[in-house]
Amino acid sequence: MRNLALAALLLATAASPALAQKVAPILTTPEAKDAWTHARPAEARVTHVDLALDVDFARQTIGGIATLDVLAAKGAKEIVLDVLDLDIASITDGNGGKLAWTVGAKDAELGSALTVQLGGAKKIRIAYHSKPGARALQWLTPEQTLGKAKPFLFSQGQAINNRSWIPTQDSPGIRQTWSATITVPEGLVAAMSARADTPAGTPVAGGKRAFRFTMTNPVPPYLIAIAVGDLKFKAIGPRSGVWSEPGMLDAAVAEFGDVEKMIDAAQALYGPYRWGRYDMLVLPPSFPFGGMENPNLTFLTPTLLTGDRSNTDVVAHELAHSWSGNLVTNATWADGWLNEGFTTYFENRIMESLYGKERAAIYSDLDYAGMVRDVKNAGGDAAKSTRLHGDPGDGAGQLDYLKGSTFLRTIEYTVGRAKWDAYLKGYFDRHAFQPQTSAGFLADLRKNLIKGDKALEAKLQLDRWVFEPGIPSNAVHVKSDTLAQVDAMLAAFNAGGPASAIKTQGWQTQQWQRLLGNLPRQQSAARLKELDDALGLTKSTNAYIQSAWFDLAIANRYDPVVPALEEYLTRVGRNLLVTPLYRGLKAQGDWGMPIAQRVFAKAKAGYHPVTVGAVTRILGGS
Ligand SMILES: [Zn+2]
Repeated sequence: MRNLALAALLLATAASPALAQKVAPILTTPEAKDAWTHARPAEARVTHVDLALDVDFARQTIGGIATLDVLAAKGAKEIVLDVLDLDIASITDGNGGKLAWTVGAKDAELGSALTVQLGGAKKIRIAYHSKPGARALQWLTPEQTLGKAKPFLFSQGQAINNRSWIPTQDSPGIRQTWSATITVPEGLVAAMSARADTPAGTPVAGGKRAFRFTMTNPVPPYLIAIAVGDLKFKAIGPRSGVWSEPGMLDAAVAEFGDVEKMIDAAQALYGPYRWGRYDMLVLPPSFPFGGMENPNLTFLTPTLLTGDRSNTDVVAHELAHSWSGNLVTNATWADGWLNEGFTTYFENRIMESLYGKERAAIYSDLDYAGMVRDVKNAGGDAAKSTRLHGDPGDGAGQLDYLKGSTFLRTIEYTVGRAKWDAYLKGYFDRHAFQPQTSAGFLADLRKNLIKGDKALEAKLQLDRWVFEPGIPSNAVHVKSDTLAQVDAMLAAFNAGGPASAIKTQGWQTQQWQRLLGNLPRQQSAARLKELDDALGLTKSTNAYIQSAWFDLAIANRYDPVVPALEEYLTRVGRNLLVTPLYRGLKAQGDWGMPIAQRVFAKAKAGYHPVTVGAVTRILGGS
């Protein structure tokens, strides 16, 4: 399926001719230089990672051997890897010959450079283990799981966490194939973001069980992911299914029942799904994100399980990443919008295919509103933080997602859907399994879509969108009738109308968020009670509605919600839903801070390190 230009770039490593691995190209242009890695891939790079690791719940470490295939330029004497707090015992070549190595000074975010003297080696074997508290890993006690009987482990690699448990070149521009044998205590199951070669595992010495995984496509290393726990699997369709703790498996299968249709829709839009299976893993509540697009095995938050499929846009999003992000990947995190903006746009198109134009219009309208809000809130730093191509980690709000998707929608509306879709399908094909930069995307667009049409070039304002701050004048704003109806009810309530006139039957999560997010922040206790009585907000089992409601209640120091708020914050660990509440509590000083500190002290143990860090920053250290 690949074109000739790509085929010419694919080499086979000489090391293992029987198992010739695909080697992806790296980009060497200045804007493709990754500031978040110590690696110097033009000199020597990792092309394949094999892991033979044991998961030790008692010590909270993963340890064993990582064997790396190395592709070195002529004359290169050493290879530089990324590590964060790894305990390294020894490094040898493929034949067991000792290699000299050093670990450089540690940067709190980037970790350390691990420099290995190659001595001509094409394979290096690193014996090591991770430290307890490794940034990528979340160890849960049995009490922190749904089943309360067995421990749980999961990883979150994006953006630069995997160096805390895998010694490799941890940069999205350095794609690597990989394989793993993971040993876990008997009674637990290991799942990874790859083909499962032994889904049931095989018994090994010491009362343990080993699981084997293979990823034959070269992937950016942040996509290597693991989960270990009391996991059960249930199929949804021929290519798809769900892994989760047994207690929520049926609910998850029901909630994500549309996934096969989504895969069909996505393929019809932008070409073949190239990863084999698409399974989903529903994690315990401490998973800090909505979803993570780990190949073959999307990780999802249990806050999606609302019983009405109203949050399946997250599944559409993670599935879309199988093209934008996993197939064509931002070469550096300065171009994160190439992953997230494309995916947000693509997600919207999948949702339209399945549920119609109006449902998609809701998301487009919200994207636009979110973009305007994020640009407005960017404050003094807006000149830097509202560009699409910017400093990694410096973007305001969710502009990678929202400005990125609005940009692509603007191109669609300008050139017409048929032409745009044909272009985008070709784009994914031309750049499959390769890194990409903003400059590379614009060059491809000019070559294959604009083709010298000066009027079109002027109309699109491409460079303004990508390299300049703010919102270009041609931004397309799709408006939703459904949201307009919500806005009308909101206006009537704001004019003094009764809460009972707000008709919420059949509402999607997004309508609730529109209402609750746009109610004026100052409300009397009587009006809050009226809203709660009429709309059942405190009682809601939808984590999104609860979060939006608590946010409003906190802004008004509304005491009746505090017990439910505390229960919520100790149960839900998703960053997006809990950090606004801590921020709100902090803003309420003498009323809010004692609540925030009390609940955080209790909830902390169940949060992921990412969430602990975010809340600690909000509350000003602890
Ligand atoms: Zn995403």
